[in-house]
Amino acid sequence: MEQSQTHRIIHRQEHPISRAMISPNVLKILYRLKDNGHVAFLVGGGVRDLLLGREPKDFDVATDATPGRIKKLFRNCRLVGRRFRLAHLHFTNEIVEVSTFRGTTTEEPDENAPPSIPGHEDTRQPRHLVSEDGLVLRDNVFGSPSDDAKRRDFTVNALAYNIVDFSILDFVGGMKDLESGVIRTIGDPATRFVEDPVRMLRAVRFAALLGFTVEGKTWQALVENAPGIIRATPPRLYEEVLKLFLSGEAAASYQHLRLGGLFAPLFPGFDEWLARETECFPHARIGKNLEWIDTCIAVGDTVSAPLLLALMFGEYLEEQANFYRKQGVSPQDAIDAAVADFMTEQAPLVAIPHRVALAVREIMILQNRFGRMPGKRPQSVLARPAFMDALKYLRCYCESTGEGSDVAAWWEKYAENKVLPQVAVGREEGGDNRRPRRRKRRGRVTAPSV
Ligand code: ATP
Ligand code: MG
Repeated sequence: MEQSQTHRIIHRQEHPISRAMISPNVLKILYRLKDNGHVAFLVGGGVRDLLLGREPKDFDVATDATPGRIKKLFRNCRLVGRRFRLAHLHFTNEIVEVSTFRGTTTEEPDENAPPSIPGHEDTRQPRHLVSEDGLVLRDNVFGSPSDDAKRRDFTVNALAYNIVDFSILDFVGGMKDLESGVIRTIGDPATRFVEDPVRMLRAVRFAALLGFTVEGKTWQALVENAPGIIRATPPRLYEEVLKLFLSGEAAASYQHLRLGGLFAPLFPGFDEWLARETECFPHARIGKNLEWIDTCIAVGDTVSAPLLLALMFGEYLEEQANFYRKQGVSPQDAIDAAVADFMTEQAPLVAIPHRVALAVREIMILQNRFGRMPGKRPQSVLARPAFMDALKYLRCYCESTGEGSDVAAWWEKYAENKVLPQVAVGREEGGDNRRPRRRKRRGRVTAPSV
């Protein structure tokens, strides 16, 4: 190990990353950049995960080559991004992001800059742009490797693997934090969370996923700035929420989100409902459902976005639909109204795409249909695009509540063999047109049903 004033070098023999662990496409990129006289590093989560013995989700490369130069060097290159200008290198089975080292910027005007000549003012868009309340809107200033490391979010995400000698460069103390399992922002945490509130969700995700603790000052700044999470754009928040809850550590992420005060600003209506009880019962299904999702992901089952949202908010939607039903609305229209209300409530905060909301609605509607076995045209139920997700929803419901297993088993058998299974005695077709009613729990006045 070597320690200079600005960085620490961890030599090849002092760390476990070998080239065999890195995707061949990424190695090719690193070598081509190097052979053309450029600095080329593997950076970000890839280095972090390899050091932790985890399989990286993707690999990112950082270089001193400008986007234009990268485009010239690689035929499979597409330049993307407005806020950050990036190169995407397309391969058959992966896309590798290659970014030019970015600088940290100050907003002070450059006093040595020549005065602008009237009629020849610089009308180009600014390379770095910050909103009045500190949000970074554009950030296209190139910098040194050290600048690039310092503008990353957390110390553990700022390590760089150098293709020249296979060493790791650490400009911000990331190695030490990685060894002690700590998520720490680079620089002042409050400033970094104001610049980009999504970093607060990323802190929670990495803490939950890696089993790390959030360093004290970082956590304090997160709690203080949590209401500001909604300053991030709704589509970006949607993407981050998906990443959080599909990370394989949804239950832990949910706990961290609530503890940090991030959950309520993102889902205010749902959060308020969670705090209330329904007929003396707390709403506990979400916790169990999130554990079920984690189990699915652990065994390699995919969980779609609509299934995730249905499992998170299903109980809330059911209750809202029930409210409409009690007013004489048909079961299907009641679900439509409940989903529409939820979408309206969420639209300014977390932008759930319309097609995803439609699929959530389908999942909920199929729960009503499942109670009829076989009912009319059962083969058309199987053909519905949301069928598999709806069945998984029902399976999770059974495991969370201990009810409805016979119905789930019937449809699972039917889906598998495409032959109508026998209906269990006491569950004849045509009687109950809803999902299996919940057994009345003590203290319950009426059982909710959709
Ligand atoms: P994963 O890919 O496993 O979700 P990651 O850390 O690789 O985690 P990416 O979103 O792929 O996350 O980003 C790659 C790297 O870019 C990060 O490791 C971090 O260094 C930097 N980065 C990403 N998002 C931000 C952000 N909001 N602010 C500062 N740096 C960021
Ligand atoms: Mg990544």
